[in-house]
Amino acid sequence: MPFRSLTPLHRQTATRKESVTARGALLFGTTEEQFLNWRWQMKNQVTSAEEAQRILKLSASEQEAFSTLKDLFEAGVTPYYLALMDLENEFCPVRLQALPRLEETVDRIGISDPLQEVGNSPVKEVVHVYKDRVAFCVAQLCPVYCRYCFRKRRDEEVGLHFNPRIVDQGIDYIAKNPSIRDVLITGGDPLIAQDGTLENLLSRLRAIPHVEILRIGTRVPVTLPYRITEELADMLARYHPLWINTHFNCPEELTPEASAAIDTLLSRGIPVGNQSVLLAGINDTAERLKALFEGLVRMRVRPYYLYQAQTVEGTAHMRVPIEKGLDLMRSLRGNTTGFAIPQYVLDTPSGKVPLSPNHLVGRDGDSVVMTDLKKNQWREVNPLGDYTTGQPLPEL
Ligand SMILES: *Cc1c(COP(=O)(O)O)cnc(C)c1O
Repeated sequence: MPFRSLTPLHRQTATRKESVTARGALLFGTTEEQFLNWRWQMKNQVTSAEEAQRILKLSASEQEAFSTLKDLFEAGVTPYYLALMDLENEFCPVRLQALPRLEETVDRIGISDPLQEVGNSPVKEVVHVYKDRVAFCVAQLCPVYCRYCFRKRRDEEVGLHFNPRIVDQGIDYIAKNPSIRDVLITGGDPLIAQDGTLENLLSRLRAIPHVEILRIGTRVPVTLPYRITEELADMLARYHPLWINTHFNCPEELTPEASAAIDTLLSRGIPVGNQSVLLAGINDTAERLKALFEGLVRMRVRPYYLYQAQTVEGTAHMRVPIEKGLDLMRSLRGNTTGFAIPQYVLDTPSGKVPLSPNHLVGRDGDSVVMTDLKKNQWREVNPLGDYTTGQPLPEL
């Protein structure tokens, strides 16, 4: 069976209730059957101002940005993701993620590779920062090119998408390093490939005895949910333990189609987590983050990380000060389900650093003092000595 048809459950769990398939087919003048074909979606990726303008009302500045910037950083949007956009408002949070903007030319501090991934790759496209796990960038193509992508530097190269030589070298490196127990397959979007190509990669990695878990980082549940077919999910489930992390950024992306795609993965026992990026105008208010994370847990997706946006070239207008991010995180704690709250992190060339609102005041004699959720001080009696005798513990 292809993409699973929507059920009432998907409308209940989604934040948007209307079918994007019906709206999209109408906007693009095609049949619903055609619209939910993922290959049709990729063939009809919108890559120019002229194409976008057939559907959206572009502002003069958006038109100029599309023409002048699409060669600087890859531009491309699936008809599905375009159908999520507000047709009039250029500040629609879905538009801001995917359409080029003139502000991209004004960034004093952004650089091409803020995580120094190139230097951290012992062989091409295998980023080895932590001893026990690697990020393996097998893919170059994406259904939608996110304007804030921290790997947009890779646009300058061609032929990275499932390049057999790069894939062989990467697998060889992983096979020769017994400390690698966790392989994160990423890109680009690794689910933009034929099932057989993916299965070939997964089976070769699964054949390495020390590789315990496989993970896939993909945005297709958000940008091209039709890619999650029953066959794909059946195939992925043959390589368990396999985990998927996806990337929803705002409540507008929580559609019945996305919910169906997630459900197809979960029904095969594939755990699905979410990594968002904190982005100005897209999700940088307490209300929008809460709506996003609560919508995700309705779909049974666990919010995993909220990333501080990297200082990537051309993204200054989307970055949010870390202090504001900390305040937003503080506003969530106590106000929603504990597991709806992701860890806010900053990725650095040496790994991810948790950014946590500080509740700890410090030690005061036998107590540890903290600020509670009502902003009162809480003194937790917590002597340093042996709990039963009160005597100091022997030095270790
Ligand atoms: C993020 C990342 C990982 C995975 O990190 P987790 O905290 O385990 O999710 C692994 N390798 C690299 C290079 C990464 O950037």
